[in-house]
Amino acid sequence: MSQQFDVVVIGAGPGGYIAAIRAAQLGFSTACIDDFKGRDGKPALGGTCLNVGCIPSKALLQSSEHFHALEHEFAEHGINVQGASFDTAKMAARKDGIVSKLTAGVAFLFKKNKIASLHGLGRLLGRENEKWQIEVRDGDTVETIEATQVIVATGSRPRPLPGIAIDNRQILDNAGALALTETPKRLGVIGAGVIGLEMGSVWARLGTEVSILEAMPTFLAAADQQIAKEALSSLSKGTGLNIRMGVKIGAITQGDSVKVEYEHDGKAQTLEVDKLIVAIGRVPNTEGLGAQSVGLQVDERGFVVVDELCHTNLPNIWAVGDVVRGPMLAHKAMEEGVAVAERIAGQKPHVDFNSIPFVIYTSPEIAWVGKTEEQLKAAGIAYKKGTSTFAANGRALGLGQAKGTVKLLADAQTDRILGMHVIGPMASELVTEGVLALEFKAASEDIARIVHAHPTLSEVVHEAALACDKRALHG
Ligand SMILES: Cc1cc2nc3c(=O)[nH]c(=O)nc-3n(C[C@H](O)[C@H](O)[C@H](O)COP(=O)(O)OP(=O)(O)OC[C@H]3O[C@@H](n4cnc5c(N)ncnc54)[C@H](O)[C@@H]3O)c2cc1C
Repeated sequence: MSQQFDVVVIGAGPGGYIAAIRAAQLGFSTACIDDFKGRDGKPALGGTCLNVGCIPSKALLQSSEHFHALEHEFAEHGINVQGASFDTAKMAARKDGIVSKLTAGVAFLFKKNKIASLHGLGRLLGRENEKWQIEVRDGDTVETIEATQVIVATGSRPRPLPGIAIDNRQILDNAGALALTETPKRLGVIGAGVIGLEMGSVWARLGTEVSILEAMPTFLAAADQQIAKEALSSLSKGTGLNIRMGVKIGAITQGDSVKVEYEHDGKAQTLEVDKLIVAIGRVPNTEGLGAQSVGLQVDERGFVVVDELCHTNLPNIWAVGDVVRGPMLAHKAMEEGVAVAERIAGQKPHVDFNSIPFVIYTSPEIAWVGKTEEQLKAAGIAYKKGTSTFAANGRALGLGQAKGTVKLLADAQTDRILGMHVIGPMASELVTEGVLALEFKAASEDIARIVHAHPTLSEVVHEAALACDKRALHG
């Protein structure tokens, strides 16, 4: 007789493992199936985020940022260091240590919450007597389990560049880019999105010549364009990223180096690099899930089709995270995971897609929540804006990171905050004030009247709120 569970989650990335934990907390017998193996060949929970995404990239960004500061910023503090060097292999080992700690942490949480952790590929077989049958295949070992409710959280994988094979030796995807243990002299990146910019920043800070080629003509098209322009200038001048927009990629050839032929401003050009990262977006993982055989609706781009509650077209099958519509972000996946587990328990949770923050961990960081000026204009919404810079902020000057801007957008009539856009130090943390403001439907006056500690970076948010009413005190 097959094992039976109330809830079976397929995929143990942030969407899946969080859904499993919440389901177990709510008293459901829960299993989570995941097929990911770490570089040691052993099962590793946590999905893309913990293994080859958010966490390892942030570890490398921090190490490279320290080295960059040592070389370019410490002298200003009167700290002189001679003969500074870095050990790329050690930096990579530190990153691997953080990944192992967190993936083991998920295994611990599964045990603590009595979640059955099953390694292998999960495939939907069919439904009988109100129970879904799911095959779990790990090599030659195959078992079938049963579930009343299924949560699909199979995530995403890198979008391939047609005709180009990723060998993770010279031509790398995110996993290969995060596994480098030597610093390349010349690095090419195709794609100036979040992953391309973050990966490019890591190596540029360590002295690699980094060229980023992007097909789109507009830099960070989803971001507020005032902030995007400031970002392009900072990343080009400060970090030293050579970013070319609006290129048309041609042939890519491999030998001792990688040569990328491309067209830019109507001229044929060639980029020669030692390593090439392909970061042109991600596609959902639905292959092997058995979607077609059970009639699970998948759209033409491969996303599992869900309604606003994350329910699929099939009874008691839900889907969350990168495999469904919406931004491919770990925190969006987690919130959907929690919400689905609670819906299964009959609760009525709500995920507000308008208040999901976006962060790019470059230096300076870029973060935003809510609407951009471009979106408000396109929607014909009358708005007012308040901006303030970090240039005169005492904390930013003390940190030696006084570049950047905070911009708040508020409804012209009601003063309700509609968007917050930040480029500057700790933008990733500062944006949370904007998220709260949106969720609580705060007005710019609310932020303006809240006491912000001095001296803090958050005072720039305060000033931007005051500026919405044209009464900035330091502007
Ligand atoms: C380099 C990089 C940096 C990133 N940085 C950030 C960041 O800073 N912040 C942020 O919010 N997001 C970031 N992301 C995006 C983030 O990683 C994803 O949004 C997030 O991991 C999605 O979670 P998920 O649970 O939907 O899927 P995933 O994390 O992709 O997990 C899905 C899991 O399901 C497994 N699986 C797939 N199919 C099956 C099957 N049939 N059976 C069993 N198991 C299966 C997969 O192997 C995987 O383990 C980054 C991504 C990359 C690549």
